[in-house]
Amino acid sequence: MADRDRLQTYHGKRDFNRTREPRGVREGEAEESHFVVQIHDASTMHFDFRLQVGGVLKSWSVPKGPSTDPKDKRLAVPTEDHPLEYEDFEGVIAEGEYGGGTVIVWERGTYRPRSHDRRGRPVPFGESLERGHATFWLDGSKLHGEYALTRFRDGEAGGGKEAWLLVKVDDEHADVDRGTPDPRRARSVRSGRTLRQVASQGTEHA
Ligand code: MN
Repeated sequence: MADRDRLQTYHGKRDFNRTREPRGVREGEAEESHFVVQIHDASTMHFDFRLQVGGVLKSWSVPKGPSTDPKDKRLAVPTEDHPLEYEDFEGVIAEGEYGGGTVIVWERGTYRPRSHDRRGRPVPFGESLERGHATFWLDGSKLHGEYALTRFRDGEAGGGKEAWLLVKVDDEHADVDRGTPDPRRARSVRSGRTLRQVASQGTEHA
C-alpha cells in the first residue's frame, strides 16, 4: 500500500506501454507472494507445501498432498523454513543425504493472504500463522481458490510433533471429483517430467 502511494506521482507521469523504465510495485502486487508444491519421493512419498512469508518459504510436509475436495483434511507437518530459491529446485538429492530422493516442482504460483480476525479485519499473514490459523487464495496452474491451514496440535519438548491441517475452503474452485493426483504419475509444472524421469535424467540446470 505504502509503496503504491509513494509511486503515485512516478506512475502518473509515465505510460508503461511506451517506456521501458521499471514500473515498480503495481497495485495489488505488494500483497502477492509465491507458493510452491513439490513432490518428494524420499523415505516416504510426500508433498512439500511452501508459502513465501517474508524472506523465506514457510514449509509443511503433506503426506497426501493438497486436495480440491473441502471434505479432505490433509495432515500437514511443519518443516524448517526454506530459502526462496528453493521454489525452483527439481532434481535428485543423493541417497544418504538429508531428504535423499527425487523432487519435482508439481505446482507453483502466487497467493493472496485472506486471514481475518473475528471482526473481519485483515490480520498480517505471518501473525495469523503464529496464531495457528491462516487462510489464503491460491492462483496457480493446478490449484485455485481459497485454502486454510490450521494448527491442531502443538509441538512438545518431549517429542510430540506439531501438526496442522490443510483444507480446501468450499468456494467456486472446490472440486470433489479431482482430489489429488497420484504422485507417481504427476508431472512437474516446470519441466513436464515425472518423478521417474527426473530420477533417471538427474538435475536439470535450466
Ligand atoms: Mn520433503
